[in-house]
Amino acid sequence: MEDVRGNLAAVRARIDEACRRVGRDPGGVRLLPVSKTHGLDVIREAYDAGYRRFGENRVQEALDKWERTRDWPGVEWAVIGHLQTNKARDVARFATEFQALDSLKVARELDRRLQAEGRSLDVLVQVNSSGESQKSGLAPEDVPALAHELGAFDALRVRGLMTLAVRSDDRTQVAACFGRMRRLQERLRQDDRAAGGWDELSMGMSGDLDLAIEQGSTCVRVGRAIFGERSDPNAYWATLG
Ligand SMILES: *Cc1c(COP(=O)(O)O)cnc(C)c1O
Repeated sequence: MEDVRGNLAAVRARIDEACRRVGRDPGGVRLLPVSKTHGLDVIREAYDAGYRRFGENRVQEALDKWERTRDWPGVEWAVIGHLQTNKARDVARFATEFQALDSLKVARELDRRLQAEGRSLDVLVQVNSSGESQKSGLAPEDVPALAHELGAFDALRVRGLMTLAVRSDDRTQVAACFGRMRRLQERLRQDDRAAGGWDELSMGMSGDLDLAIEQGSTCVRVGRAIFGERSDPNAYWATLG
């Protein structure tokens, strides 16, 4: 069994330490526990430790968890994985935050569904900062054009950018991905046509959160360091029996 509460404290200490190294305020970095594949029993431990928002990368699993936790006061769900337009309706129903916006088509569909629900949604644009073909997200050079369109969608509150760095032991390469994001954020902030706020930089996971914070991350998405290794992407459904 993982000591979820202890792990959360250890990750929070890593965040605070990384902030101290570069003279940042630890209050400027939020910890988003990523609970994908894990059952509600362990998520409840994080909830009882004070965490209220959880990251999930698959819509069906997130929707199911939302439905089963409606009696947990204040619990919120962040969708952090690529979205097909046919799932936009589900996300519009339950999500508090969507960190993987990567096309105008998805923005339009989400906005339409949110308007119908009378809801709004915090969104981050996902950027492919490593150039790897298997990664989701827009190429950095394509982000400003999308940003120029997002002002048209009243139900989307544009907050910033999200990325996954290259998976590599070479810290220089990982830091280069994060640095690219920071420069892109700067460019969007100076671009009058880029509607919305660009204060959020969601970057850093269990293995690279320290580097991400040194490069300006405001949100780290952490799964394994809190909940342990994930055995199987379908493990959550097995817990339901
Ligand atoms: C799973 C996932 C994470 C967490 O990764 P860990 O290595 O378990 O910390 C972060 N971001 C996204 C988009 C994910 O899918």
